[in-house]
Amino acid sequence: MLLSRIHDRHLAWAGAILLALTVLGGHWFTGRMQRVGENMESARVTALARTVAASIEAEQVVALHGDSSDVGSPPLKNLRAQLQGARAANPDFRFVYLMRPAAAKPSVMAFLADAEPEDSADYSPPGEQYTGEDDDLWRAWNTGEALVQPAYADAWGRWVTAVAPVADAKGRTVAVVGMDVRADAWQATISRYRNFALTISALVLLLELLFLWGLYRQRRANRQLATLNGRMSQQLGELRAAQAGLSLADVVVQHTGEAIILLDSKLRVVRVNPAFSQISGYAAAAVLGQNMPLFMHEDQALLRRIREQVDVSGHWTGTLWATRADGEAFPLEGSINLVRDDAGQALHYVVVFRDVTVQKRLEDRLRELSVTDGLTGLPNRRAFDEALEREWQRCMRLREPMSLVMIDIDHFKAFNDNYGHPAGDRALQQVAKALLAASSKVEGAQVARYGGEEFAVILPRCDAPRAAQHAETLRAAVAALGIRHQHNSVSDVVTISVGVSAHTPPNGVDLDALLLDADQALYRAKARGRNGVQLA
Ligand code: GH3
Ligand code: MG
Ligand code: MG
Repeated sequence: MLLSRIHDRHLAWAGAILLALTVLGGHWFTGRMQRVGENMESARVTALARTVAASIEAEQVVALHGDSSDVGSPPLKNLRAQLQGARAANPDFRFVYLMRPAAAKPSVMAFLADAEPEDSADYSPPGEQYTGEDDDLWRAWNTGEALVQPAYADAWGRWVTAVAPVADAKGRTVAVVGMDVRADAWQATISRYRNFALTISALVLLLELLFLWGLYRQRRANRQLATLNGRMSQQLGELRAAQAGLSLADVVVQHTGEAIILLDSKLRVVRVNPAFSQISGYAAAAVLGQNMPLFMHEDQALLRRIREQVDVSGHWTGTLWATRADGEAFPLEGSINLVRDDAGQALHYVVVFRDVTVQKRLEDRLRELSVTDGLTGLPNRRAFDEALEREWQRCMRLREPMSLVMIDIDHFKAFNDNYGHPAGDRALQQVAKALLAASSKVEGAQVARYGGEEFAVILPRCDAPRAAQHAETLRAAVAALGIRHQHNSVSDVVTISVGVSAHTPPNGVDLDALLLDADQALYRAKARGRNGVQLA
């Protein structure tokens, strides 16, 4: 648009120039109209003067001498009556008089007759010379034209003076009639014309102002529209980008391996992704609008705690047990995030989780492996140490006795040397099994592989006599296996030597003492010929 391309400052200048021109034009127009009014009034008053002049009888004028000798003469009386008649006929007339060049001094105008009473201060007797401005009188005398002088004011009001020639039958000018005419109508007409012009000028000015104002408003509206357009297209761009981002996000939600659930503030399912159905076995349609069925059978107190944490901190992560559609329990690892509205009210909960059954199994297996002896399946040395410490603490708390049985296979090196290592392994497995079987009847007994061909049995709540008795049972059980061992110095089957110690903690002893005592007892059993039990 051309208009919008023109600079604002230029438009303001153009507006100012237009307004200035209008003011100037208005001024000219007003003056012009005033002159028109003046001309009209001038024509009217001139016509009045002509009419008066035409009513004067020229032969009476000619009959005058033009000096004091006319006083009392019939022509003067007649003329005075005619002048008075003219004045009486028109209430706007003031002085009405006749003049012509003085007989004695023809370069000066002198009064011939006057309408004023003779005793009036304004009366001018015949022959009195006129001393005022007499240009118009002479012009009327010389040219035979009627004339009007500009208006003037005095104590009685505003007046114009009109002069008109009085001509005889042959058209010769014999006198000049002069009169003062009230100028009110004259002024009123001129005012009317001036006011008319002023009104028109003001209207034009007003129209121009309105036009400029409209132009300004239109330009401003255009600019606002352009700004709005710009903003809208920018927002549209942002919206498109957001939409693209959303559809990308949707792709991720649909194809991620993690289950995603959107809950409303009342924990009802609003939306789930395909991974949710895969993991939980619930179809989306079956859970929409429902409370999450996964946790229906779980620890309600735990769920309440989680909910509280989410409501307070907005976030929770952890591991939970849940139930699949087929009733199978499975471990899930997940997070819950609270989405609040602008006012801070809970709007949605976003639950993201994955099935960690495999990991959990692996973890359990790893944990098991780390505490189990691979050959015999018994708890290993590490598990033994932990169990020993645990039981010792417990017995100390409960002030109960505790016994420890240390077992070592006799001449096992020779066994390996003669029957081979694999046979040695098998023998170790058999011995472990026998020890386990024999200990299973004793409550709380824990059998472990202490190392190499050595085993240990923890007997909580067991005093020395009972421990010694159980040790004997173990020894007998191993011997009863009847594993052939020709190089055993005490028997031709595999046998064990057993050391037993018993303490009631604390009683001034520590766990090391229990171990040491058992070890020494075992040493004694070896020294005393093997295949036997020694009590510390
Ligand atoms: P003692 O009666 O004095 O205990 O004699 P020993 O031969 O049993 O004692 P030593 O400590 O000298 O020998 C232990 C042997 O146990 C040595 C080793 O070959 C054997 N051994 C330890 N661990 C294993 C194992 O896991 N498998 C097999 N086959 N043999 C093992
Ligand atoms: Mg040994
Ligand atoms: Mg040995």
